[in-house]
Amino acid sequence: MAKLNPLDLYDVRSQLSEDELMVQDSVAAWVDERAMPLIAKCFDDARFPTELIPEIADMGLLGLTLKGYGCAGLNYTSYGLVCQELERCDSGIRSFVSVQSSLCMYPIYAFGSEEQKQQWLPEMAAGRAIGCFGLTEPQGGSDPANMKTHAKRDGDDWILNGSKMWITNGSVANIAIVWAQTDDGIQGFLVEKGTAGFDTVDIHSKMSLRASTTSELYFDNVRLPDSSRLPSVKGLKGPLSCLTQARFGISWGPIGCAIDCLDSVLKYTEDRTLFGRPLAANQAIQIRLADMARRITTAQLLALQLGRLKDAGKMQHTQVNLAKWNNVRMALDIARDARDMLGGFGITTEYAPIRHMLNLESVITYEGTETIHQLAVGRELTGISAF
Ligand SMILES: Cc1cc2nc3c(=O)[nH]c(=O)nc-3n(C[C@H](O)[C@H](O)[C@H](O)COP(=O)(O)OP(=O)(O)OC[C@H]3O[C@@H](n4cnc5c(N)ncnc54)[C@H](O)[C@@H]3O)c2cc1C
Repeated sequence: MAKLNPLDLYDVRSQLSEDELMVQDSVAAWVDERAMPLIAKCFDDARFPTELIPEIADMGLLGLTLKGYGCAGLNYTSYGLVCQELERCDSGIRSFVSVQSSLCMYPIYAFGSEEQKQQWLPEMAAGRAIGCFGLTEPQGGSDPANMKTHAKRDGDDWILNGSKMWITNGSVANIAIVWAQTDDGIQGFLVEKGTAGFDTVDIHSKMSLRASTTSELYFDNVRLPDSSRLPSVKGLKGPLSCLTQARFGISWGPIGCAIDCLDSVLKYTEDRTLFGRPLAANQAIQIRLADMARRITTAQLLALQLGRLKDAGKMQHTQVNLAKWNNVRMALDIARDARDMLGGFGITTEYAPIRHMLNLESVITYEGTETIHQLAVGRELTGISAF
């Protein structure tokens, strides 16, 4: 019998199509060659590697599932695999692709006018225009219905006032998708960088997602033409449907972090000799390694079925709630345990687990905290909203 792959114990890859395997393998090779060598220094320097954007775009990874407008039109399982491979390097790189694809290109594609699609989607697919998604506000991200940012009609225009907090790509973005209260419910607006009254301030002193830009957005009487409004959606279902798209990718991404952590500690515990034998020869270590493999395998199977449901048009948002909760928790626990098994070396960014661990503290918070996903599953089971 052939030896099992410790990073894919249930041979999940045997369930992938030729095209899906090709996407995964080509992104994995790029990650190893181009992104891995840069990432620890980027994290140390708190810098997003913008030089990688053209290469990410050339691989067709921006707006990967969208059809037309210069996008690749691949299936959602492929998108999930891309997220997994990018996050094997760093959650910041996967976040960049998630925000651009699921939170910015998707709403323009799904809710935008033909003019907005023609103007933005080809540029965004080519990585020449970067987007950010402004939903969260300082008074509480878990309760977006309590949004204070508002847009008021002024003749043919709108006047936008308010602020947004924790916005990925905020200061680097050419275009911000901003969700605001109006007399007609929550609506989305496309706000271009440089528009009078629109400012951004980066959030420094982050201990997590350091290789990613996170900003505050400020709107002070920003005048916008009606053509900058996303015409085809009103209400919270607009931003929430974008979040469901992004959470799908986030259900896959952390599997990459966990695989990278297990890979590190398998090598380390084999090479490290303590008490006259390899660290890996200890029962207490093997149980921890086996537990990592168990949890990764469960997450891989969950993500694959989620992908198949989404590609069949049958995925429901509670299934994404469960997958995001399970898979991020899985990866965070594994990263913390891997960091411990590396001993003192584990506290340095020479080894990836502490970087993954710190990044995953953001991933478990953004796009719905773990508690919010648990409550969403609880609501599905009981029919009672406990929010
Ligand atoms: C690095 C980073 C990048 C981000 N990028 C973006 C972005 O690009 N765009 C964007 O719009 N947002 C972004 N966010 C914001 C993110 O989505 C919010 O941080 C998240 O939704 C949580 O909101 P909050 O931070 O205000 O915490 P709160 O909502 O204030 O929550 C605080 C705590 O209360 C708990 N809690 C909340 N409600 C309940 C309840 N009913 N019962 C029990 N416990 C509860 C939460 O689980 C959490 O533990 C980002 C955040 C981070 C950290």
